[in-house]
Amino acid sequence: MQTSMLIGSRFEDGKGAEEAILNPRTGGTIVTIPEATTEQVDAAVAAARAAFPSWSRTTPAQRATYLLKIADAIEHDALAFATLEAENCGKPINAMLNDEIPAIADCYRFFAGAARTLSGQVAGEYLPGHTSMIRRDPVGVVGSIAPWNYPMMMMAWKLAPALAGGNTVVFKPSEQTPLTALRFAETLAAILPEGVVNIVFGRGASVGDALINHPGIDMVSVTGAITTGQKVIQAAAGTVKRTHLELGGKAPVIVFDDADIDAVVNGLRAFGYYNAGQDCTAACRIYAAPKIHDRLVADLASAASSLVFNDADDTKNELGPLISARQRDRVAGFVDRAKAEKHIEIATGGNTVGGGGFYYEPTVIAGALQSDEIVRREVFGPVVSVTRFTDTEEAIAWANDSDYGLASSVWTKDVGRAMKVAAELRYGCTWVNTHFMLVSEMPHGGLKHSGYGKDLSAYALEDYTVVRHVMVAHG
Ligand code: NAD
Repeated sequence: MQTSMLIGSRFEDGKGAEEAILNPRTGGTIVTIPEATTEQVDAAVAAARAAFPSWSRTTPAQRATYLLKIADAIEHDALAFATLEAENCGKPINAMLNDEIPAIADCYRFFAGAARTLSGQVAGEYLPGHTSMIRRDPVGVVGSIAPWNYPMMMMAWKLAPALAGGNTVVFKPSEQTPLTALRFAETLAAILPEGVVNIVFGRGASVGDALINHPGIDMVSVTGAITTGQKVIQAAAGTVKRTHLELGGKAPVIVFDDADIDAVVNGLRAFGYYNAGQDCTAACRIYAAPKIHDRLVADLASAASSLVFNDADDTKNELGPLISARQRDRVAGFVDRAKAEKHIEIATGGNTVGGGGFYYEPTVIAGALQSDEIVRREVFGPVVSVTRFTDTEEAIAWANDSDYGLASSVWTKDVGRAMKVAAELRYGCTWVNTHFMLVSEMPHGGLKHSGYGKDLSAYALEDYTVVRHVMVAHG
């Protein structure tokens, strides 16, 4: 198993403390990996800085060729990457192979094309005798820090636009899920020039902290918890770095009486529990109109209880375990505190699953009030709450009454109502009669405490480049 870090063109073992990498399906240790020391982080940043002058001067077409080769290599080794990610995250193999790998390859291909379309405004004479033009140039060295819920996909979302824009990168995977990133280091080293991407391993408080405070890093991109984003902003103040933050979510789902109930239930079964609910866009906070409410709770409870998990034949599994015992216990804590409220009913689930794995039952919580913790805080597990609303204004107000602002959806056959609600929701994305769907061409990113900066789309390429003005005197 490839567990060395990539620093310049060298594969190097960490010289710091050992971290155990677990299989969430069994709780067993897959491997232990030593994390980077501060000196090794320094060496990775130095390698990225050394690579920047020549990489930043490659043409968009050259960078596109590299990105297309990376996409091809991912598809070539799809089964190996999917198997490793499934083992490290507990994801069902089919979800990894059929959903994530194609989306990951597509992300690199999209940014290969996008690199060649990046443009500034037209040049012109804004002062007599002088021509001005706008350039979009790379930011410099990007420190990229990823979470554990979609390790390879978050790596693609961070690397592809950064490289397309002409930046070099020091990438740190989550200390819980480094295995695909470390294996991918071999792929990247075989394709890219030395130092363009460097991969360091370690915990947030040590290696992550060294990266975000490093004077040699020009921009920090992090996907993680709000508290981590706050630390990144504080660190950025010291060295005046650009920041790009994708933080958590608590997606509201507004279901009107005229919605297609079967489509809603199928959608919630898929999008509320995908990746065991460890998804910042998970359809987890349902607001149901009065007439549809009771049937929605009953049908959703029955649909959620039919989800297949913990089957010995992994090809049958629809969801996996939580990432860690800590995360499972955190989810259980939320549900146990909800259970203690008299007005709440657990329509299905509500229990941890015995055995060594970190499983939690797909859960539907009915009768939840807007003020309840289960409605307000991000659970990041297979738990969906349902709250009854009385009218459209109340639904919009409750949906917006959240510190988070990443994703939302509205379900109705009335196009006018859908448009009105979509216009008033304060979320980075609003889906109508669906949820969760992402495409490489469209931006993904939050408002409010969910952060700022966009992943995917041409907007991500803008985020990873700076606008520059060049003025030429006619002489
Ligand atoms: P986390 O913030 O604990 O960790 C994310 C990454 O940040 C890890 O690599 C970690 O090592 C690093 N990190 C932690 N503390 C750090 C520090 N002080 N300095 C530098 N780096 C540090 O989050 P997590 O537990 O891995 O992921 C779950 C969270 O991420 C959830 O809140 C979830 O909503 C959020 N998330 C958001 C998105 C999005 O697109 N908005 C996507 C996935 C996950």
